[in-house]
Amino acid sequence: MALIVQKYGGTSVGSLERIANVAEKVIAARAAGHDLIVVVSAMTGETDRLLGLAKGIDPQPNPRELDVLLSTGEQATIALLSMALEKRGCPARSYTGAQVRILTDSAFNKARIVDIDAQRLRADLACGRVLVVAGFQGVDDAGNITTLGRGGSDTTAVALAAALKADECQIYTDVDGVYTTDPRVVPDARRLDRITYEEMLEMASLGAKVLQIRSVEFASKYNVPLRVLSSFAEGQGTLISSEEDVMEQALISGIAFNRDEAKLTVLGVPDQPGVAYRILGPIADANIEVDMIVQNVAEDSTTDFTFTVHRDDYDKALRILRETANELGAREVTGDNKIVKISLVGVGMRSHAGIASTMFQTLAAEGINIRMISTSEIKISVVVDEKYLELGVRALHAAFHLDSKK
Ligand code: ASP
Ligand code: MG
Repeated sequence: MALIVQKYGGTSVGSLERIANVAEKVIAARAAGHDLIVVVSAMTGETDRLLGLAKGIDPQPNPRELDVLLSTGEQATIALLSMALEKRGCPARSYTGAQVRILTDSAFNKARIVDIDAQRLRADLACGRVLVVAGFQGVDDAGNITTLGRGGSDTTAVALAAALKADECQIYTDVDGVYTTDPRVVPDARRLDRITYEEMLEMASLGAKVLQIRSVEFASKYNVPLRVLSSFAEGQGTLISSEEDVMEQALISGIAFNRDEAKLTVLGVPDQPGVAYRILGPIADANIEVDMIVQNVAEDSTTDFTFTVHRDDYDKALRILRETANELGAREVTGDNKIVKISLVGVGMRSHAGIASTMFQTLAAEGINIRMISTSEIKISVVVDEKYLELGVRALHAAFHLDSKK
């Protein structure tokens, strides 16, 4: 008998009919002989509605009180799902985060889980009950209600699975798994059967957002097998696990992309110790996140320095960089906020040469100019002009045969 943690997101519990559908799925899994802990989000739109109410009183609501308010969304769904289960003859019991004792730090609105008391849950499971736990919330040392940040129910589910050493953590959502790329860009995109934690982290941080990124980090740290599946369609979904568990590794798992990029360049800065720091220090001080960084080899006594930021931060970053360039006596500052980043992701890259050259050849054949390149062990990213995003992603998807079945 396996212990499974299932998590159902807001759309999956968005109405009483959908809650009934979840109850049926839970009962079916139990009939298959599994012990079950079910984590639920608030009904679709409920967290936003509550947030709107709070902001109607104060645009910057008191963080402690905001968590008291937001946590009620999940409290409603745990009760409703438990009722639906009980009505169908399935013994169930609901728990808020505080009732479980999901202990967090005291960072209201973005708390981190510190510890989970698994004792009560274990005792209840032993009595044959299905446990329904509120996602997204916990309690701090002093007994204050906390929440884990938007999308935090995924993390609750993974943390419970880790604490109870569950056999699998299943995230039920409105898509049926993780895809090779965004199907809206490539209609032939294929659902992946398996992907490693590392690849998923690269894909998620690059915009393929299916899961709260923190939940994947958590799953990786505690080696919790994580499965993404649809609550509305049958299927095996995508299993996210450690590299050792993935027997046959594809060369490339997916193509991620990021539309909201901008790049800035400072030309002709003196090539001296401390220059990178002088350029990026003020950017960091302004809370602007920098992604790629490239510095040229100095030909004379000066060098060029390029970095990318989120497009929303472009104007601010440009202003700061102009000031710094002045102070440093640099020749010129240029920038472009119509660029995108496309990344190939795959642990198979570790053991295969030639992937980068295939990537560059493919882009060249389409007449796409590459503006920046960066690589890591399992990822190659290029920056190209915005207008080439769709063309580039489609060409690469075909070149690496991501649409054909393995
Ligand atoms: N209800 C919360 C949100 O909307 C948490 C979650 O759904 O995971 O962000
Ligand atoms: Mg979610």
